Amino acid sequence: MTAVQGPEFTTGLAQMMIKVEGTHLKMPLSVLTGREPGRTVLVTTGLHGCEFPGTLAMIELLREIDPETMRGRVIALHPVNAQAFQARVAMILPEDGVNLNRVFPGKPDGGPSERAAWRVTQFQDMADFYLDLHSGDLYEELAPYVYFPGRGDPAVVEASRQAALVLDAPYMLRSDSTTGAYHSAALRGTPSLLLERGGGGTCRRPDVDAFKKDVRNLFKHLEILPGTPEKPRSEPVELTGVMYLKSAHNALWRCEVSAGDKVAAGQKLGDILDYFGNVQETFTAERDGVVLYRLQTLATNSGDVLVAY
Ligand SMILES: [Zn+2]
Repeated sequence: MTAVQGPEFTTGLAQMMIKVEGTHLKMPLSVLTGREPGRTVLVTTGLHGCEFPGTLAMIELLREIDPETMRGRVIALHPVNAQAFQARVAMILPEDGVNLNRVFPGKPDGGPSERAAWRVTQFQDMADFYLDLHSGDLYEELAPYVYFPGRGDPAVVEASRQAALVLDAPYMLRSDSTTGAYHSAALRGTPSLLLERGGGGTCRRPDVDAFKKDVRNLFKHLEILPGTPEKPRSEPVELTGVMYLKSAHNALWRCEVSAGDKVAAGQKLGDILDYFGNVQETFTAERDGVVLYRLQTLATNSGDVLVAY
């Protein structure tokens, strides 16, 4: 695969705030250029406002990696959704209330989210590989896992899947959606991954360090950093047929499982209650599985995903 040539930078780290034209949005951009030519990788963090560990991981890594040892180039947007990050708003871009990760590739002349997505797409098109770091947002608790794109050129899908295997996440999932940032990159020819770790609005050191280790391993896999990737403690196991249980009530969610729990068919997952404790609906597992994420707040609103397993 040939990357589109982007702006030239000399060896070292260049950093700036970039604007999204026609909006009030700005994003921090870093470009770390190695001494030798090589691949270009794009890493984005914080498409969702309160998913913090990936952002801190990239800020630290960009200062720690010595570009003299590097081939190629790392481009990072950290965080993409800086407006939501600063306002501590979950899931959406405050300027238009849209989930940025549902409007890719975006448009140069659309609404604020579409324009922001288009800005990211321009960087995706310069890259040989794209990694998007996420966490559970404010309301979500999750087990670490990685998504790889299921649509697009089979060679792009396979390159994405192979890269997922160097990450230290217990589970991997093939996704057939098209409008997320990493789906869109893959459909445009750039292999990509979305890595989920940590959440609930926290920024814990073990999550930050685990992201840093995974990103370094991916850079080794792409020959941007020297050496071979460290073998992950657990090579991701591919899961299929993920069930998403959705709330139909504005009510209370009494959840009986945690992210990472194994569940058996027939096991109770939780109850929807009214404010007085009357059970409105009970959720049970239809089959054996593992809880990838769950709504961790007592409050639930219609349309929330309560449990994905
Ligand atoms: Zn997210």
